[in-house]
Amino acid sequence: MSIQTINPTTNKVIKTFTEMTEKQVHEAVEKASNAYESWKKTDYKLRSALLHKIADLLREQEDLLAKMITLEMGKLLAHAKGEIKLSAEIFDYYANNAESFMADKILHPTHGQAFIRHAPIGVLLGVEPWNFPFYQVARFAAPNIMIGNTILVKHASMVPQCGVAIEEIFKEAGAPSGLYTNLLLSSTNASALVADKRIKAVSLTGSEAAGASIAAEAGKYLKKSVLELGGSDAFIVLDDADMDKTVEWAVIGRINNNGQSCVAAKRFIVLESVADIFLDKFKTKLSQLIVGDPMDASTQLGPMSSEVAAEQIAAQVQKAVDGGATILLGGKRVKREGAFMEPTIITNMQRDNPVYYQEFFGPVAIFFRVKDEQEAIDLANDSPYGLGGSVFTQDIERGKRVADQIDTGMVFINHPTGTEADLPFGGIKRSGYGRELSELGINEFVNKKLIRVSELSDPF
Ligand code: NAP
Repeated sequence: MSIQTINPTTNKVIKTFTEMTEKQVHEAVEKASNAYESWKKTDYKLRSALLHKIADLLREQEDLLAKMITLEMGKLLAHAKGEIKLSAEIFDYYANNAESFMADKILHPTHGQAFIRHAPIGVLLGVEPWNFPFYQVARFAAPNIMIGNTILVKHASMVPQCGVAIEEIFKEAGAPSGLYTNLLLSSTNASALVADKRIKAVSLTGSEAAGASIAAEAGKYLKKSVLELGGSDAFIVLDDADMDKTVEWAVIGRINNNGQSCVAAKRFIVLESVADIFLDKFKTKLSQLIVGDPMDASTQLGPMSSEVAAEQIAAQVQKAVDGGATILLGGKRVKREGAFMEPTIITNMQRDNPVYYQEFFGPVAIFFRVKDEQEAIDLANDSPYGLGGSVFTQDIERGKRVADQIDTGMVFINHPTGTEADLPFGGIKRSGYGRELSELGINEFVNKKLIRVSELSDPF
C-alpha cells in the first residue's frame, strides 16, 4: 500500500509520502539503540516531565490534530478531539503512576533477601493501525518510555500525517533524538524489521493477518510480542434491561468511529421477550442517523476509512445475504461521493453462513434473538474472537454472572466495551494476547529481574 493521505469523504488524494530507504531505516534503528543507552539511565522525574509536556502539547494542538485525524481516516471531528484528549490523559497517567508501578517488589524467600527490580529491555517496535491514530500510539509509547525503553513506530500507511505529527510533538516537547521515531514504511518492510538484533520486542494492533505475520517473525527471532487484534463483541440485552437507554448505547456501540472500532458492539444478542421492541427501536434510531461530512458538527455517521474498506464491507454484507441472511436496514453504499456505507442491520444469520464467524468492521449490526440467558452466553462465546463484550440489565449481580461466563478479555455491564487510561485493554483467542493500559500494560516489555542477596557461606 502506498503511503498517502486520501480524504475518505471525497476519495481525493491529498498528499503522498516517500517510503524511507533501507539506509534511513538502519540509521533510525541505530539512533533508537543509542538513545536507549542514555535514556535507560534517566530518572522517573525527567521522564515524567517529558510525558506531561507531551500531554500539554496535545491539548494545545487539539483542533489542528483532530482535523488531521478526520482528514486522513474520516472520524467525526468531535470524536477526533475526544481521541486527542484521551491520548493526553494516557501520557499524564503514566507520567504520574509509572514510578510506583515499577517500584521494587520485595519477595519473602525462606532464606535471605530477594526482590524484583523492573528494568527496561531496549528498542521496541510498534506497528499501529489507522482507526485511532493518536490513542493507539499513546497507549504503546507512554508506558514504555516511562520504563526506559525507546520506541520505533510503523504507523498505518493511510495516516502518514498523523504519524509525522506525533514525532514532531515528541521533538517539540524536548525528547532526545532517537527516543521516539516514526518510520514511514510499508508493511512488508515492517515485518522484516523484526529480525534486526537491535529491536528487542514488538507490539502490533491491527488485523489477524498482520498479527500472525509479525508474531511469526517475532517467534522466529525469539522476541516477545503483544498483539491487539480484531473482535466481534457481543452486546447482550437481558429481559429486564432499560430498553430506551440500552438502544441508545447499542447505536453508539455500533457506529462509534464510523463502525470501525475493534471493540465495537457487532453482534446484538437479545432475549426473545424483548427482541421485537429492541429491534424496532434500534432500527428506527439507526435509520435516522445523519450521514455526511465528518467535519460537519451535525453529522452522526461519517465515511469508512477508505474506498477499499467501504467496498469490502458492502461485499461482506452481500455475501451474508447470499449465504441466507436478511437485510432489515441499509445494506448498500450511500449514493454520494466518498467511502460511505449505509447503517445496516442483518438478521437470520445462521452458523453455516460463510461470514458468520467474521468481524464486520463498519456500521453493520448482526441481530440475533435467543430464548434465554444461557443461549445468549453460548452464542456470545461461539466466536473465534475474544476481545470485549457487554451485558445490559438492571440487575447488576445478574450482569456479573453473565459477564463471568463470557470468554473475552473485557466485559462491560450497561456500557459498550470502552477504554480508559487506568483500565487494562486486550483480548484472548484470535483477538490477540497481552494487555495495554493500566498497570498491566506497563508490565509487558519489562525485565522483571530477580536480585538475590545471600549470606556469604562456604560452598560445598
Ligand atoms: P491492518 O491492515 O492489520 O493494519 C494495522 C497495521 O499493521 C498497519 O500499520 C499496517 O500497515 C500493518 N500491517 C499490515 N499487514 C502487515 C504485515 N503483514 N506485516 C506487518 N505489518 C502489517 O489492520 P487495519 O485494517 O488497519 O485495522 C483493522 C483491524 O485492526 C480490525 O480487525 C480491528 O478490529 C483491529 N484493531 C484492533 C485493536 C485492538 O486493540 N485489539 C485496535 C484497533 C484495531 P499498512 O497500513 O502499511 O498496511
